Amino acid sequence: MTGPQPRANISQIPAYVPGKPPVVRPGTTSYKLSSNENPYPPLPGVVEAATRAVETMNRYPDMGSNALYDALAARLGVPRDDLAVATGSVALIYQLLAAFCDPGDEVVYAWRSFEAYPIAVAAAAATSVQVPLTSAAEHDLAAMLAAITERTKAVIVCTPNNPTGPSVTQTELDAFLAQVPGHVVVVVDEAYLEFVRMPDAVDGLSTYRAHPNVVLFRTFSKAYGLAGFRVGYAVAQAPVAAALRAVSLPFGVSGVAQSAAIASLDAEPALLERVDALVAERDRIGAGLRERGWDVPQAQGNFVWFALGERSTEFAAAADELGIVVRPFAGQGVRVSIGEPEAGDRLLELASRFTGSVAGSA
Ligand SMILES: *Cc1c(COP(=O)(O)O)cnc(C)c1O
Repeated sequence: MTGPQPRANISQIPAYVPGKPPVVRPGTTSYKLSSNENPYPPLPGVVEAATRAVETMNRYPDMGSNALYDALAARLGVPRDDLAVATGSVALIYQLLAAFCDPGDEVVYAWRSFEAYPIAVAAAAATSVQVPLTSAAEHDLAAMLAAITERTKAVIVCTPNNPTGPSVTQTELDAFLAQVPGHVVVVVDEAYLEFVRMPDAVDGLSTYRAHPNVVLFRTFSKAYGLAGFRVGYAVAQAPVAAALRAVSLPFGVSGVAQSAAIASLDAEPALLERVDALVAERDRIGAGLRERGWDVPQAQGNFVWFALGERSTEFAAAADELGIVVRPFAGQGVRVSIGEPEAGDRLLELASRFTGSVAGSA
């Protein structure tokens, strides 16, 4: 007797490997540097706004997230029709694929990149076309362009790239977009936008205004520190944004998340201060690593990448011993989030111990 059979693609969905929680060791503080979370407590006013929303938990949230759309439209200077709010930008990936891909359609993205892409593509019964990063751990946009076929429905550019760190430049993105066929949706996943400090940085808003096939994915999970509440948004010209809204989960974004996101937008000065502090800490760690002989890739997000190959799990275990939990990608490398300075000091200590055998690996 056979039971119900899920669609064949379901057995091909890779498992999401979440960052581990820290190992608790009596007498020492442990730090979680495994999920690119914001180490700061909530921004001023956010707990109060979320608490007020909790009091109406017996009611459904505003399904249209109206106040949040208004706040985002005002903040970004875009029409409401160009926005799609969702339960985190991970949900936006699913919505994009549901709206644009038939089974077997191809989705091109760099690899290694964000863990959720292959999962969402497999869940949609679409086909992943993974284009290897360059030796500098950057997107190979020329190779991604060459990978586009008549079956391609979407291309994802993750900038800064999670887990390796580099961003594309506006010049590179413009040259790429000039060549991508107009019917292919180009996602620019800007989850770490706020941390970017580089010349010729991508200006997502002017890019989407110039290209009807571009969609920006943004999130409150990283710089804004609301990872636990699940809220993000897309910016695209109205037809693409409407398609994303059409397939959204009704009542997906909770009232607490809507209120917290609005309050976070209102706390921008405090946000920017914290982001600046994290960027300074990232740069301190980058410089410290280079002094110790490590050739890490350009880090534009709130994390650094160690291309350790086969020694990745060994490095992660040694980090555990020092009370910092990092995110190993077996056989490839280790991503370490920027957190508290004490955690950064421990990372530098660990990096000193590993100098020699892997110095110079990019
Ligand atoms: C963290 C992250 C996201 C955000 O996910 P949420 O669902 O909004 O929490 C999206 N894209 C990338 C590349 C990320 O690293």
